[in-house]
Parts: sequence; structure tokens; C-alpha cells
Amino acid sequence: MVFLAHAVSDARLAKSDDPSSSIHDDSVVSTTVYGSHWAAQDIPRFSMPDEEMPPKVAYKLIKDELALDGNPVLNLASFVTTYMEEEAEKLMAENLSKNFIDYEEYPLTCEIQNRCVNMIARLFNAPMDDSSSEALGCSTIGSSEAIILACLAMKRRWQEKRKAAGKDATQPNIVMGANVQVCWEKAVKYLEIEPRYVYCTENCFVLTPQEAVDLVDENTIGVAAILGSTYTGHYEDVQTLNNLLEKKNKEEGLDVQIHVDAASGGFVAPFVRPELVWDFRLPLVASINASGHKYGLCYPGIGWCVWRSPEYLPKDLIFNINYLGADQASFTLNFSKGASNVIAQYYIFIRLGKSGFRSIMNNLTQTADFLAENLKATGYFDILSEGNGYGLPLVAFKLSKKSKFDEFDIVAKLRERGWIIPAYTMAPHAEKVKLCRVVIREDFSRSRCELLIKDLMSTIHMLEKMDSKTIEEHKSAHHRHHHRLRNVSRVTFHKKHGAQGNQLPSKTSGVC
Ligand SMILES: *Cc1c(COP(=O)(O)O)cnc(C)c1O
Repeated sequence: MVFLAHAVSDARLAKSDDPSSSIHDDSVVSTTVYGSHWAAQDIPRFSMPDEEMPPKVAYKLIKDELALDGNPVLNLASFVTTYMEEEAEKLMAENLSKNFIDYEEYPLTCEIQNRCVNMIARLFNAPMDDSSSEALGCSTIGSSEAIILACLAMKRRWQEKRKAAGKDATQPNIVMGANVQVCWEKAVKYLEIEPRYVYCTENCFVLTPQEAVDLVDENTIGVAAILGSTYTGHYEDVQTLNNLLEKKNKEEGLDVQIHVDAASGGFVAPFVRPELVWDFRLPLVASINASGHKYGLCYPGIGWCVWRSPEYLPKDLIFNINYLGADQASFTLNFSKGASNVIAQYYIFIRLGKSGFRSIMNNLTQTADFLAENLKATGYFDILSEGNGYGLPLVAFKLSKKSKFDEFDIVAKLRERGWIIPAYTMAPHAEKVKLCRVVIREDFSRSRCELLIKDLMSTIHMLEKMDSKTIEEHKSAHHRHHHRLRNVSRVTFHKKHGAQGNQLPSKTSGVC
């Protein structure tokens, strides 16, 4: 193939003095894209090509390559939105050229961000003076940036207090469950904070409040609780954590607060289980993050962080950007970013309103319950996730009995039908538990769910008929193939760093 491509470009070079040769006129493609010389060449990979190509050719070449990506609609591994209405897409397209940070030029875009922050803070019951007070928060690229900013705020606040009291402020730690999403490991590494983990067990996959509070000491900058564990969708018990921590703070003269990672649950729980108390109604909850691109129902590239009040976001971290004339407060990691994601979120909020969110989230919860019941009824599976809206709308399940095939074999086989479902092992100290997870997103309707159940059952029957050796061969072929594809983006770093690179994403890489 490569040889052929070189042969073609050599032929082009040889003929380059021939004025009658039209093959060099890059603006004229007389045949289809596939009759042009570009279709017979290797696609540029390492250096920018010397010459231009027509837009149609570039478009087609790239589109065709991307056809080998999975189909987002069948990707049941991800929480991230794969469907938005045409009107939302239109608004996004119309605003692609706006840089969000140019507040002076695009004051309305900034205003729209602030409106979203106000709506989110009120949805999370932040204390407000009145119905028109401005809330404190910012848009981010996703929950990861929001979590890094929240950790930074907690760390700085702790440092300032320690220094003011004449105490050592060099050993900050943070307490969290070992089931945290990988971005927390990144945050503590980048910000040089010691992580203190509450480990999972084979029966408990979330942070237990008492164990968390036991790990707190004078160097603790905060405790992180997750509203919607990435592994099993469980909501951690923020209320009990708040109460135990209040007691400890009082007894030991501490001032430790809680950050809630509501990346997935922030836009679900308020609509499905409004009575669940996890947010700013609890006095120790100082900040909350949520991913606009998960159940905030926007395409990837938007997250949010909100703070209870200015006391929890040290002033010193806020930059007043006097850029191109305007003075605006900014708390972000990146300077420039696209404005269209922020605008899309505002569209979702005013388009759906609370009743729209309620309908969608209730449907998703019902679909998750339907799937869980059906899987359980087959007799093959145990359900590890929480139903009835007491957890995220997802189904985490494992084989109830040991058999010649495991969860990894099932998902490998389902992949042949196009379904992308992750199989993984539980968080540290509960790694023996293998599980699969199906995330129910807006575009995963009941009928698609029924198709999945059917395919899942025929997969099981097929696997039962196969002998162990064939299953083993199947598995390794699947691994070879998907490892190669999945690791494409990591290759550059890993090639350069050899084995020294951080293996951060390995434990939950397929399930974020
Ligand atoms: C997805 C997720 C994150 C990371 O959020 P991004 O928006 O992907 O950056 C963090 N925490 C939890 C619990 C998540 O589910």
C-alpha cells in the first residue's frame, strides 16, 4: 500500500515538467475524490504537506478515516452527550468563531455564562440574598478543570488560614474515596496535595462517611464526595458526611469543608430525587462541580464549578482581565476557549426548563430500571448499581456465577454487533470484582434498550456453546485490536517517556 503510494507520487514528479498534465492542477478534480492522486497516497502524518489540496478532498479523506471510530450512538461506555437538537447545533455553529475570553467584544456571551452560573447555583440551593443576586462560579472545559480549580481554592484557603495562625502550611492533604474519577488523581498530583483514600471493599463501592472523617486532620484542605460514582453510579452519602464532619470540626477546632463532585449526578438528582440532600443545603458543602456535557445534555467541552460564597474562593486566585479594554474577573486554567459550548448550555436550560429536565431524567431512570430488571430476570447477572433514581441512570452488572467466560468476553463479543460497553475491575482494594456498565443517555430509548438485551442474550448463548480455547482466542484478538485503537492518543507521550509515564488512566480508562 505504502509502496503503491510512493510509486504514484514518483510518477507525478517524473511528469512535473509536462504542461499538459492536469494531475498537478490541485484546484481541478475532474474525477471523484477517489480518482484523484490524493486517494492513492499515504495521508499526511508526520510533516505538513508541501502542497495544498482542495477542501472536498481534505474533507473526504478525514471523514473516511474517522469512519473507523466507534459509533457514538452505540457507545454505552460514555456519559458524554451524543445528541442535541438541530437548533442547538445551529447556535453552536453560528458562534464557533467567538473566543469566550474576549469579554469586551462578546459581552453577551459572558452574560450568558453568568446566567448559567446563577441557574446552576440555585438548582444546587446555594444561599442567595434574593432572586436577583449573582452567584459565584465559572464555566470550564469539563469537570476536570472545575475540580482542579476547586482543589486550588480549597488548598489556598487552607494555606491562608494556616499562615495567619502561624502554623505550617506545607503538607496539605485531601480525603476522598478510592473510587474517584482519574481527574482527581491528576488534580492532587499537579497541585501537590497528598491524597488520603477511603478504600472500597467487595461489598461497598463508595466512600463511607465515618472512615472519611477519621482520615481528616489539621492538614486536610477538604473532603471530596461523589454524586454519582463513575464505577457504579452510587450517590455518596453527603448528608451523613456533613454531620460527622461538623461534629469533628467542632471537637477539634477544625474548619474542613466538602466539595461535591456532581459531574454526572448534578443534573440528575435535583430532578429525579429532589428530596435527596447533598448540595448547598448542607452547611459544609463549599463548592460543587458538574459536567455540562454529561447530563447537562451538551456536546463535549463544557463544565461548571460553583462556590457557596466568596469566602471559599480566595480573591488572590481571581484574575482581573483587563484585556482589549474590559475589566472582568476570570478563574480558569486556559485563557482562550470556544464560546459556543457555553451558549449551547444556556439553550438547554431555557429550552428544557425544569419540567423538560424532569421528563428526560425520569425516562432515563425508568429505562435503567427496565434494563436492570431484565438483566436480573435472565438469571445470569447480579446488578451492582442503585435503581429507582437513588443512583445515576446506569446499570452496572456482573455475572452471578463463575463460568468459562467472564465480563470481558461478553463485551468483546458484543462489540462485533457495534455495541460499545466497558468491562472493568472495581476501584483499589475491590479489584477482584469485575463488572460491565451501560450508561443510559438521552438518546438511548426503550426500543434500543430492548435490542441490547436481545443481543446480550444471544451473546451469552453463543459463548456458552464455545469451548474455553476459542473464547480465549477471541479475547486476545479483541484486546490486540482495541488496545491498538484506544492507545493511539497516548502513544506520543508513552513513546517519549517509555515506562516512566504515569499510568493514570489505566484503571478507569474505558469508563469515564
Ligand atoms: C466524568 C467525571 C469527571 C471528569 O469530568 P470531565 O467533564 O470529563 O472532565 C469527574 N468526576 C466524575 C465523578 C465523573 O463522572
